[in-house]
Amino acid sequence: MKAEIIAVGTEILLGQVVNTNATFLSEELADLGIEVYYHSVVGDNPARLESLLKIADRRSDLVVLCGGLGPTTDDLTKDVVAAHVGQRLVEDSNGRKELEAFFTRAKREMTENNLRQVLVFEDGIALPNETGLAVGIFYQSPTTAFLLLPGPPSELRPMFLHHGKALLQEKFPQQEQLISRVLRFYGIGESKLVTQLAALIQKQTNPTIAPYAKPNEVTLRLTVKTDDEKSGQKLLDETEAKIKEEVGEYFYGYGEENSLEAVVVKLLQEKDCSVTAAESLTAGLFQGTLANVSGASEIFSGGFVTYAKEQKEKLLQIDPALLAENGVVSEACAKAMAQNARAIVGADYALSFTGVAGPNELEGQPAGTVWIGLASEKGVVAHLYHFTRDRSYVRHSAVMAGLDLLRR
Ligand code: ATP
Ligand code: MG
Repeated sequence: MKAEIIAVGTEILLGQVVNTNATFLSEELADLGIEVYYHSVVGDNPARLESLLKIADRRSDLVVLCGGLGPTTDDLTKDVVAAHVGQRLVEDSNGRKELEAFFTRAKREMTENNLRQVLVFEDGIALPNETGLAVGIFYQSPTTAFLLLPGPPSELRPMFLHHGKALLQEKFPQQEQLISRVLRFYGIGESKLVTQLAALIQKQTNPTIAPYAKPNEVTLRLTVKTDDEKSGQKLLDETEAKIKEEVGEYFYGYGEENSLEAVVVKLLQEKDCSVTAAESLTAGLFQGTLANVSGASEIFSGGFVTYAKEQKEKLLQIDPALLAENGVVSEACAKAMAQNARAIVGADYALSFTGVAGPNELEGQPAGTVWIGLASEKGVVAHLYHFTRDRSYVRHSAVMAGLDLLRR
């Protein structure tokens, strides 16, 4: 069972729209055990779409097209596919009812071209659109199945999840499924992780192990092919255990969306603890990152951005003599910032960030020198880091290192 996805739309070719539909559909098809062999994008051009359809028809069992189901003349997917498979376009009666109801509700007059959105193939199956007007189409020719979905993700996703998926399951039953598990690591670079796991990655075929590096983080996606969920999960468990034998100390969580900040927020919620921060070189980036996680307000009520020395004295009440003696890029400053922030806010934990974002050095210390302080009921500690690369990377690295300190 080979599938491919064709996104139709000049805006994607121009780089104005990211082809997130293909990402979504690939993942969903993998869930159904349908392997996707190709992604392509073609502009709103009938001749080029037709030539791509010819290729797709030959090489794939299922072709999923998205985009170009709307009412305007550049929305031509339906016409081109209908001509390709020799189907007549007819009106879908349910779609027409929905369309008329929509225009009545909106108190707008329906124009003729709107009817194009409810045209379907004579021998096809219409897929209702819960969040828009253009009806989707499933059609099976003797050689190939075609699924036509609307372009806007807000329409495509519900249509696929509520109608397309069940239809594909029914038409193409008992496919082997692909089950994935994502492991997340912090504190180890991709090349080091891959080197440490080289033997495992090479000999492992089911599940496969695919590393992916983000700034300051590496994820491993394990994908297993199986005909039953339980034995698939068991294979994943076994491989995960082998991976953790090698690099378990850097592992911090599961899942594509589960960022380090999400893990930290959850942990603090579970411990019923609060956190605050005093930020110099990161200037609020840490607090902003925490606030990206929904529910952050339960563990974070506020903190400090003290970029200049005067504000460290004013807002954090740090003794000017301490700063004069040690400088701001110092263990003493990091500790004082964390301690005072914790006392002023009354939080369980306080982090502080002070250092040199770069590119220029500060107080004779090179760019990338960062002290991070952590104050808690146990007292205060500060750690020294030397981050490399550019300014934004240094600041981001500092935030990640701070999160990691809270997690431990
Ligand atoms: P409409 O009725 O809105 O015209 P349509 O089915 O004709 O829907 P398009 O005109 O191709 O779809 O695309 C409409 C919008 O949907 C695009 O401007 C874009 O914002 C979004 N879109 C289209 N294709 C994709 C894609 N592959 N990935 C993500 N978004 C997309
Ligand atoms: Mg359109």
